[in-house]
Amino acid sequence: MSHPVPVAMAQGSSCWGCFQSLVDIHLKLADVLPLLDIKFWAGVVDYKLEDLENYPNKSIKIGLYEGMARTEEDVHLLKVMRDKCETLIAFGTCSCFGGIPGLANFYDIDDALEVKFRNNKTVSGGKVPTENLPAIEPTVRPNKDIVDFDIYLPGCPPTSELILTALTALLNGEEINLPPHTVCHYCNREKKETPIPEVLRPYEGKADPDSCLLEQGYVCLGSATWGLCEGQCVNKGSTCRGCFGPPPPIMSDQGAASMSMLGTYAPIEPEKLLEKVKDPLATFYRFTYATSHLGRIRQKREEAKK
Ligand code: SF4
Ligand code: SF4
Ligand code: SF4
Repeated sequence: MSHPVPVAMAQGSSCWGCFQSLVDIHLKLADVLPLLDIKFWAGVVDYKLEDLENYPNKSIKIGLYEGMARTEEDVHLLKVMRDKCETLIAFGTCSCFGGIPGLANFYDIDDALEVKFRNNKTVSGGKVPTENLPAIEPTVRPNKDIVDFDIYLPGCPPTSELILTALTALLNGEEINLPPHTVCHYCNREKKETPIPEVLRPYEGKADPDSCLLEQGYVCLGSATWGLCEGQCVNKGSTCRGCFGPPPPIMSDQGAASMSMLGTYAPIEPEKLLEKVKDPLATFYRFTYATSHLGRIRQKREEAKK
């Protein structure tokens, strides 16, 4: 490619982990950076929002938006990114599905502010900060309800390899072809399709390193999760917690699919199951509550209060 491609990287409310994963490409960055004409990346260079606002519409070829839109400023930034970027990528699981911050929708905004600021056990005389800060949105609205995206690149965070593959394809003007398989497809463990006799907490027993963790009783969401990480946790000894969200069609309900999968494999009374799965919401909807059916019902209820 002869000329560097204009790109913008924007961060809503998020932890920076996805951009850290991009930076973690390490030496390969030396190949990629000369191909980028970075127009906006406030977390790295001292760009201001006005800089982004002043570019002509669609003048930036590729935009990455990390995080979700928890504040009014996040919502504005997301809309400006949509206006300015030809191809907008929902970058990371927060941006695709609300991620862990989306679990805040389980509480109404006042309860969340109470726990976070007013009655936070680590501070005294706590109050909600307002000076020079944008207003908080009443709920975590899925980003895709605010703007349309061209590409979803999930992961908490997306792996460096996945980012490199996607960016390289885009910079070369090629389509990104992401394999649709679930985590189970990449898992090296033997699966015998046997029912689960009992559900175990992660610290109980000693897992056989060669057999399917789910069939041993450990709650593994691999069958309901997009395998773009190539099964990195399950192949290293840990269960899949679902951080890449559902496989294509990616707006399917990962939490409902996981529970249904557990119901099929584990013929156990619901009460008994709940003794072991202490927090079903954070187990099955940890990364996708904001875009799930349950989350949307809750969101509508909160919005009706306005
Ligand atoms: S997806 Fe994960 S790593 Fe990326 S911003 Fe959200 S919490 Fe951080
Ligand atoms: S359920 Fe988990 S452990 Fe079992 S095959 Fe799938 S990814 Fe592997
Ligand atoms: S195995 Fe599951 S939890 Fe681990 S990185 Fe992959 S999707 Fe995320």
